Amino acid sequence: METVFSNALLPSRLPLPTQTLKPNLLSSFTSITTTTTTSPTLPQLKQLHAYFLRNALDRSLLLKLALSSSVDYALSVFFSSPTLPTHTHTLLSNQFLKQISRCAAPDKAFLVYAHMRTDGVAVEEFSLPPLLKALARVSAFWEGREVHGFAVRMGLESDAFIQTGLVGFYAACGQISDARMVFDRMRHRDAVAWSVMMDGYSNSGLHDDVLRLFEEMMCSEVEEPDEVILATVLSACSRSRNLDSGKVIHSYISKRNFALDSHLQSALITMYANCGSMDQANRLFDKISPKSLVTSTAMVSGYSKLGKLKAARAIFDQMHEKDLVAWSAMIAGYAESDHPNEALKLFKEMQVSGIRPDQVTMLSVISACAHLGALEQAKWIHIFIDKNGFSDILSVSNALIDMYAKCGSLDGACHVFDNMSRRNVISWTSMITALAMHGNGESALGRFEQMKRVEGVEPNGVTFVGVLYACSHAKLVDKGRQIFASMTKEYNITPKQEHYGCMVDLLGRANLLNEAVKLIETMPFEPNVVVWGSLLGACRVYGNIELGELAARRLLEIDPNHDGAYVLLSNIYAKANRWGDVGEVRKLMKNKGITKERGCSWIELNGEIHEFAMGDQTHSRADDIYQKLDEIARELKSVGYAPNIGSVLVDLEEEEKKEAILLHGEKLAVAFGLLNVGKGSHIQIVKNLRICEDCHSFMKWVSKVFDSEIVVRDRTRFHRYRDGECSCKDFW
Ligand code: ZN
Ligand code: ZN
Repeated sequence: METVFSNALLPSRLPLPTQTLKPNLLSSFTSITTTTTTSPTLPQLKQLHAYFLRNALDRSLLLKLALSSSVDYALSVFFSSPTLPTHTHTLLSNQFLKQISRCAAPDKAFLVYAHMRTDGVAVEEFSLPPLLKALARVSAFWEGREVHGFAVRMGLESDAFIQTGLVGFYAACGQISDARMVFDRMRHRDAVAWSVMMDGYSNSGLHDDVLRLFEEMMCSEVEEPDEVILATVLSACSRSRNLDSGKVIHSYISKRNFALDSHLQSALITMYANCGSMDQANRLFDKISPKSLVTSTAMVSGYSKLGKLKAARAIFDQMHEKDLVAWSAMIAGYAESDHPNEALKLFKEMQVSGIRPDQVTMLSVISACAHLGALEQAKWIHIFIDKNGFSDILSVSNALIDMYAKCGSLDGACHVFDNMSRRNVISWTSMITALAMHGNGESALGRFEQMKRVEGVEPNGVTFVGVLYACSHAKLVDKGRQIFASMTKEYNITPKQEHYGCMVDLLGRANLLNEAVKLIETMPFEPNVVVWGSLLGACRVYGNIELGELAARRLLEIDPNHDGAYVLLSNIYAKANRWGDVGEVRKLMKNKGITKERGCSWIELNGEIHEFAMGDQTHSRADDIYQKLDEIARELKSVGYAPNIGSVLVDLEEEEKKEAILLHGEKLAVAFGLLNVGKGSHIQIVKNLRICEDCHSFMKWVSKVFDSEIVVRDRTRFHRYRDGECSCKDFW
């Protein structure tokens, strides 16, 4: 570029070009405009301009050159052009419009059009498609309407190219029904027109309409779909998770022997992966090489969504380049399938690789941290969010409230909530649920009132789950009944399963088991596992065998593999010393091949997460931990603790049961905690299942004997043990 514009070639020093020289010069300029990426500077352009004028050279070329450097300069060249014969002027204008429709400032095309109109330059059918294309790029709706009106007045409306331009223009402006109206009026539709209409639907998220239109196209039998159309249709199948249609398109492609270009192949793999058909996706994926970023990411995301994290990770690790979407897909995979620790580790790796996260990644990371209940990590993530400018995003702040609450820091949750510049119903609901989770029922109800009366925010169904949950955990029975009734009466919200579940829980906790059963009987739909599970849980606490058996039976009718139901039922029998029945339940589980979900407890120490399963020997300090646990057990027994073997489901001798129960993960975790922080400290543990009766009383004893505050978050709530008492008042 620089050399072309070196002084030797520049106009002022050039000899006047002769006719023979001119084509050579032109071809060298043409090569400038088509092959180079650098643009002429403004002074260079001015010199060129003068040169072109002096020599009456092709102005279209000059405009093209000017456009690559400065749109405004190109416009000034265009506007100051001396009048040419009408036809030539129109030709020049059309070419300029075409160039401008592709440049960085397509909105200027309308100025060209207006100039043509006022200057009396004929605007004809070839002027309009590039103009419409330019206006579509900037969604200039009113300007486009004016052009449409002009086309009608000039009788150009039935021109297929203009019509296609209008379809694309209206679709780009989000006026999809206007686009369709123009499309329907077209007498001849070529593949491009169909494609533009489908793209319009696709970009508006109307994936079913894409498929319907494709069907129409196939029925019309005038045009055959090309690769572009097939890829659009596949993407619609993919986004609407329509595997059946996707398969039809695949077999169409196979039958027609379409050359599977990489674009089409990628579309097919993405479709199968998004629809969860990973075997098919993998078969195609195996065959392609090189494997593109988009396709690999689709595979990672497809496997992740199915919880097949090993397969996802294998592909992820093989990717040479990874963009934000790929990292996000893998992190979300871990976060959503119970591997929160892996999600956080990967997030840190992503930092190292220099990829900046976006809000989607952050939401996954926050959710992983909430799941882990790791407060140190939570604080670190909060700082990261503040530093990287995510704190103004409402969904991020809402997620932070939930994260702090689940990490045991109600203060942290309140702090985020109080400092939000704006709040929506989700913010309020998160705050109410946070308070409820920590047993602050009254405060939760206070916030609920404030939300409605002071801030005028309408509660939604999820808010009511939080409020009823608050009533339930604080044993506010009357208030709960009243709020439940207000849902339909005041807010026109029909209670769903989860609301009935909360009410059954509320009544059950208050030992109003018969009222709970009556409520279940009046439900307008079949109660689900949550509802029966709530009743079953209450029966365990109050030792009601008859209702417990009923609830367990109903629950197992709906979900025969519900491990929790078997465990609770056997707990009920154990409590009543009906060991024969405990054995029956155990046998039933064994015959059906049902295993109790693997219990797992976490404890965070200096920002690191330590994980303990039952009888876990894998920790690097396992010997110390077991020694400490022995020591604790001895000390507790000396003051009156006796292991409650009713919590053990396995068929063992008495002594072995006592052994087994001592090895529960949360006990190992608390031993590890005491080993590291000693007496008089705060220990926080997260357990993925409901804490068993024995561990519950064990923690109470530990809090007293070792003068510590212990917080255990189990599957349903927080237990805060202090001085031999638990905040749940032994009801969980
Ligand atoms: Zn336990
Ligand atoms: Zn408790």
